[in-house]
Amino acid sequence: MKPLLRWIMVSMFVAGACAAPVALAWNAQGHQTVGAIADSLLARTHAGTEVSTILGGGETLQIASLWPDCAKGVAKNNKTGLFHFVVSPRFPECAPFQTAAGKEAMVSFVKRNWDACHPAADEEVCHKQYHYADVAIERNGYARSEIGTSDHDVVSAINAALAVLRGRTAPAPFDIANKQEALRVLAHYVGDVHQPLHVGAIYLSATGQEVDPDAGPFDRATKTQGGNLIKDGASGLHHEWDTIPASLEVSSFLSDGVAAARHVPVTSGAVGTWAAQWASDAVMASHTAFQGLSFGTEVDPGKKKEHWPVTEPTGYAVARAAVQKAQLVKAGARLAQLLQAIWP
Ligand SMILES: [Zn+2]
Repeated sequence: MKPLLRWIMVSMFVAGACAAPVALAWNAQGHQTVGAIADSLLARTHAGTEVSTILGGGETLQIASLWPDCAKGVAKNNKTGLFHFVVSPRFPECAPFQTAAGKEAMVSFVKRNWDACHPAADEEVCHKQYHYADVAIERNGYARSEIGTSDHDVVSAINAALAVLRGRTAPAPFDIANKQEALRVLAHYVGDVHQPLHVGAIYLSATGQEVDPDAGPFDRATKTQGGNLIKDGASGLHHEWDTIPASLEVSSFLSDGVAAARHVPVTSGAVGTWAAQWASDAVMASHTAFQGLSFGTEVDPGKKKEHWPVTEPTGYAVARAAVQKAQLVKAGARLAQLLQAIWP
């Protein structure tokens, strides 16, 4: 989800119309589906044993995958400079991490990953940026030369966590303390890199025309913040893609999801190239996500309620659910495959 504050404001705005609790990206259910598929695939494997030992306390990937979104509950007091965790009743899934030691662990991670990436004025603090990239839909894949990528985007973040799990130090600006923290963030980011709107982005002019940010000088005003600034009525386009249908939640989808995940081929090439390949795959999925959408003129540019209205084609929700299903299955399979590559 990006950015958190904007979304909280939006969700407060739509609270009356929305019965479900506010969701984090994928929402908690989506991340749990990814984690649970990987847990099942790793049962009775060496990697599975390593995962349980590192996470400890009976924590599964299904639970661990929620941690980086729960850590977004850490706030900084701008007067004192102190960090503290704010418990929110809207995120009951974060309860396992809200012990005294658990809160301390989240505060520590956020503090270490706050501003070493030198966020621009219109960007979020570093650890929130670790969840996504914003590759233009005009591209056919992820490359670090493109606008919307960085040394602290979701691909870089997966590789940083991977380095720590292989016994190395995370490259700057990342500061990952240990293998437990690395595994918790990895389980989450592998989910995020499969959410098409966490990787593919549309850039729009003030009149709602598609703009290619890699062609000519880049105008930051064309950023739609991963679709967070695109509104289908009161609902954000990014949020719609984060939210999964009940049929894809762990309780209804796990056995079908695991069966499908067993058929996902292992990514080719060196393990360190996998995250970029998965991001390229998500860019292609984002092409489907943006197909048939039409955008109106930007409303309130530069202001709090800045957005572009979108009109979705007939059958869009059904098409979206099909892409979500395929992406969740791939994410679960690939998380397990990556961990098995580390611990064969
Ligand atoms: Zn995320």
